[in-house]
Amino acid sequence: MLSRLKAWIELREIVAAISFWEKDSVRQFEQAFAKLSKQEYAIAFPYGRTGLFCLLKAMGQEGKEVICPAYTCVVVPHAIVTAGAEPVFVDSKTDDFNMDWNLVEQAVTENTGAIIATSIFGQPVDISRIKLFKEKYPDIYIIQDCAHSFFAGLEGCEVNQLGDAAFYGLNISKIMTSIFGGMVTVNNETLYERIENTRSKCLSSSSVMKSISRFIYLISVSIAFNRAFYRWINKLENTGVLNRFVKYFDESVIDMPSDYKVHLTPLEARVGRVQCNKYKSIVEHRREISSIYTRRLFPVKGFELPADTPGHTYSHYVIKTKDSKNIIKYLSNHGYQLGELIDYYIPDMKSYKKNKIYGAGVARKWPGNVLNLPVHKGCTIKDANVICDKILKITHSNY
Ligand SMILES: *Cc1c(COP(=O)(O)O)cnc(C)c1O
Repeated sequence: MLSRLKAWIELREIVAAISFWEKDSVRQFEQAFAKLSKQEYAIAFPYGRTGLFCLLKAMGQEGKEVICPAYTCVVVPHAIVTAGAEPVFVDSKTDDFNMDWNLVEQAVTENTGAIIATSIFGQPVDISRIKLFKEKYPDIYIIQDCAHSFFAGLEGCEVNQLGDAAFYGLNISKIMTSIFGGMVTVNNETLYERIENTRSKCLSSSSVMKSISRFIYLISVSIAFNRAFYRWINKLENTGVLNRFVKYFDESVIDMPSDYKVHLTPLEARVGRVQCNKYKSIVEHRREISSIYTRRLFPVKGFELPADTPGHTYSHYVIKTKDSKNIIKYLSNHGYQLGELIDYYIPDMKSYKKNKIYGAGVARKWPGNVLNLPVHKGCTIKDANVICDKILKITHSNY
């Protein structure tokens, strides 16, 4: 069975992982990432959310309101709360999944300290809109959440270049990976120094045991996500016995992983550095597969395909449709796992019911009504066409 998400792990990554004699692995990864992101400084973290946590601390956001999308990964508000600030949610636009900046302006108060701008699923945020906002409110920090997008946008105008800082998630489901891990990039030297100080104050060094357990995880994931085995893993997943490993949040608690303050391991950094060289090829592949979906699924009634914005990096190819359950079931019987990401609306979650929310709840109707198709390196052009054939068949579309 073809999994819906999969990292592109080859022998190179495994060899790099075990090259334990290499010195300064974390710094080398940071330098490679800074170059790739076209930013002066890159600072590595054990998770993307730890990067955001330290960034907010370094920006002095305790007691401040931090505006973030209502439709995003739930770890984002968790990190905001953990850093001592208050998340204020803003709904999405109706035409795409990104946060509505007209509502952002309504949400601004005297106490607003920062805004998290997210290019959700890799679709670039409206760059000119954010530039205008920054001119109007120069004292409010703009933080780009690039966990999905990485360097989405047109050449010379990538989303991570805009604003005061950007952070990235590097776990196994992201565009590129360092097993777990996260990164922050900035151009401003003073801010860089503050972030580095915060990091050395907050984080403890990683142990050899942590490296070993990350290595075991890497090998297990490479085996489990292999096409030949994935059918069995998927069966186990459906029975619920894997919940302990795959369910990553509990509605009622705001928490961070137990090791979120333990530094990224050098082993993970070495894997990340190899992946930096693959970034371009990964994104090209995602764009190619996405263009097949866009071209072939265009006739399906009731499908709202993702915007074909230039510079989209397609961390996920997400279709709005009321038919997702049926389609997921049908494709699963034919060897293709599709998904339903993001399957919650944060302001409705128990932990965030009391927080401020701006907007009428446009994004509330998406959980359960979205369908993601695989776009990773393991999904070939042939797979993409088979997926299209099956979807056209089950939706009775004429083609
Ligand atoms: C994955 C992700 C993050 C960060 O994730 P970590 O698991 O902490 O590395 C942040 N924002 C979004 C939108 C994400 O998808």
